[in-house]
Amino acid sequence: MTPAGHITIVEPPFLEPSLARPDAWHVAAMASQCGVSARVLDLNVALYRGLLTEEQETLRRLDRDDLIESCASAFFVDPQALRECLASQAPVPPGFPPSVRLPLAEFDVPRFVKLAREALARFDGAGGRMPSHAEYVRDQETINALLEARVRAHDPSAHLSLSRFSSALNPWDAEQVLAAIGSGGSVLDRLYDAALRRSAELGELGRVLVVISQEAQLLPGIALASWLRRTLGAQVTLTGDHLDIVLQQRFFPELLELMDDVLAYRFEYGGRAWLIGDPDPFLLSQGAKRWPEFDCREKTLEPERCIVADGEARRCLGPLPVAAMRVTGRCYWSRCGFCLAATAARYAPRRASVDQVVARLDALPGRGCTHVQFLDYALPPVLVRGLAGRTRCDVRWAAQLRFEKSYSDPDLFRRLHQAGCTQLSWGFETASPRLLASANKGGELRPHEKGRILRMSAEAGIANHVFVMTGLPGETDDDFQQTMRFFEQYVDCIDGAEVYAFQLRPGTGYHRNVRAFGLAPEPPQWGWQSRVPYAGTPTMEESEERVRILTEALRPLAAASGCNDFLEGHLVLREEMRTQ
Ligand code: SF4
Repeated sequence: MTPAGHITIVEPPFLEPSLARPDAWHVAAMASQCGVSARVLDLNVALYRGLLTEEQETLRRLDRDDLIESCASAFFVDPQALRECLASQAPVPPGFPPSVRLPLAEFDVPRFVKLAREALARFDGAGGRMPSHAEYVRDQETINALLEARVRAHDPSAHLSLSRFSSALNPWDAEQVLAAIGSGGSVLDRLYDAALRRSAELGELGRVLVVISQEAQLLPGIALASWLRRTLGAQVTLTGDHLDIVLQQRFFPELLELMDDVLAYRFEYGGRAWLIGDPDPFLLSQGAKRWPEFDCREKTLEPERCIVADGEARRCLGPLPVAAMRVTGRCYWSRCGFCLAATAARYAPRRASVDQVVARLDALPGRGCTHVQFLDYALPPVLVRGLAGRTRCDVRWAAQLRFEKSYSDPDLFRRLHQAGCTQLSWGFETASPRLLASANKGGELRPHEKGRILRMSAEAGIANHVFVMTGLPGETDDDFQQTMRFFEQYVDCIDGAEVYAFQLRPGTGYHRNVRAFGLAPEPPQWGWQSRVPYAGTPTMEESEERVRILTEALRPLAAASGCNDFLEGHLVLREEMRTQ
């Protein structure tokens, strides 16, 4: 193997393009340490921009019904209700912008595209003022309508918004994925051809490293690696977080025919060898027959630093220059039985120091970034306390926290707010301490104490967002009612909530101990699996029904938000926009 020379580090689609992810920048910093020249190429943002500004030629393939379906999906309205009101003089359904009515009723595609491009221009600063939160969400939805229409024109089975891509190609059906991508005719190949092929950003690629940072990027990342190699003749290596979790389930050597090699496990465990041309135990090239076992004793461990996606915020799609920071190597707890992130427990727990984090925050305004989203699964308490001790507030920031007993200090949240904290997202899951204990959740389990923490945070001026889970194995009606009562009592302290049903995910504690939790998993359906259907108590259907009931109970959050965004994120923007 030869040293890498010049490399291009690629962020693949599809992640919400409002901020750049730090993973690729982490690899770039490691390359620089090894004397390798590296360029970060965010093909996630480039793809979104390419699709939104693509020539209108492809939209000619759309029919009126496709356009109505795209708009109904983007604005959360019933397509049939929308069709009926377009055919009459009836008012459009609540939540649907009147400005889109005419282009839709008259099937005036250029006018519809113009609306979406105006929304994109506002994201890029046109108009010279910050939109309100409701305007921002409306712009997102309008852009989503165009994205949805664009991908339907390329493949009627595909769906795309700023936060999600799906198509008839099942990312977990490994045989189907490898065949479709190997043929070069998948919907992803068509999207990459349409939006990236003529992109001036591609430039001189040199050796290419496609770095996956999330599960959602697995299929698009494999497709992109294959497309870059086949279409542009690049020498391509695929690596990143999450790849190991999937390929350990089942390794298909055919994957290696789509790219030059695959670097198993996280880049900091072997990436240095790849960069300097040393033999790498985790590098799989064509002919490799099995996935390498991970052995902590063999790891080449680069020190974890405070990782910031430097310099990309202005190109992202959003009205604020938000930098993403990651300051831990993995969740510091990594023990919850339902959580896929807990499988990273095999990696060493590492974090940046308070001084490193503060120094990076202080440097951001000089780089044009005024907002930070910490991407860590949970910011460790030592860093929370360190940030609370900060007296400057040049940047506003949002983060995810666990409920810890040490957060009962009434002064903590006031100081965090003064130090720039605008939003905290909490892993709440359920109000039942019994279920939390059986899930090994740890931290503060008592609902009244968790409610008190949320109240102190809200009273300090911080927006609270909570992640809730229904249907944990063994959840009774009483447990669920306890959760319902909690939200009745504390809804005034919460600005947003995402409610999910429990999922049995391969590699998690529940999956390893199905019998102990009374779960009967179904046999694997596909080569790779993201979640496993199961029989248990409560049933999967009951869990979904509880999601529906709880979501309905949280409707007051929608009224407070004044837009469709009440169960989504973006709260980092909310406080900023309240002041407009
Ligand atoms: S649920 Fe949260 S706290 Fe628990 S292991 Fe996962 S990321 Fe960590």
